[in-house]
Amino acid sequence: MNLLIDLHMHTHASAHAYSSVFEYIMEAKRKNMLAIAITDHGPALDDSSHKWHFLNMNAIPELVDGLRILKGIEANIYKDSSIDCDNLMSEKLDFVMAGFHDAVYPPCSDVTKNTDCLMKVINHPSVKIIVHPGNPKFPVDYRAIATEAARNNVALEINSGSAVARKGSSANCREIIEEVKSAGGYVSVGSDAHYCSQMGNFDHALKLLEEQQFPEERVLNSSLMITLSFLEIKK
Ligand SMILES: [Zn+2]
Ligand SMILES: [Zn+2]
Repeated sequence: MNLLIDLHMHTHASAHAYSSVFEYIMEAKRKNMLAIAITDHGPALDDSSHKWHFLNMNAIPELVDGLRILKGIEANIYKDSSIDCDNLMSEKLDFVMAGFHDAVYPPCSDVTKNTDCLMKVINHPSVKIIVHPGNPKFPVDYRAIATEAARNNVALEINSGSAVARKGSSANCREIIEEVKSAGGYVSVGSDAHYCSQMGNFDHALKLLEEQQFPEERVLNSSLMITLSFLEIKK
């Protein structure tokens, strides 16, 4: 599998990331990528951008020298299952991803509680991708999540950065891959780059997917056609 679309990366609009949009574009051209998505953290994290960052993303061209640039957000999930991306923001963006982050949803070992919360997020009208659901700090019922995600045209992410950033994710990701496969859903593969050279590095995620012979056509970012049609589906 050779993926030329990266749907998860952070610019220095999230202050704990260190590259600009322009640097990502240069890196994407160098790697012959077809499309990249700028997905900075939602405003609830202490070092994230103001919501105006997301409202004004159409300042970035849609196409630069043949490279498609998608505008997204990695929204934070609150304890009440709401997210820090309101309708005004989601309407301005190409797509919305959401996930658990310690500072907004404290790590919790209660599988039922986490699963109930994530089920509601999967049913949120603007959420298209659940990021790093394999994070061991937030265990969920993977079968329930994969079934609900497939039913709602929401993809579960296999985050390539988890190998380093979220130790202990691999076993959970294997389970997620199996469950998405049997539920007939989609996975999304993202680098979760916080520096431009990490963009397009999918080694860890691809190893897991290939080990389990996950069908390429069920990888959301395996072709631009699938990516665009999946993200345009209105619920
Ligand atoms: Zn994240
Ligand atoms: Zn991220």
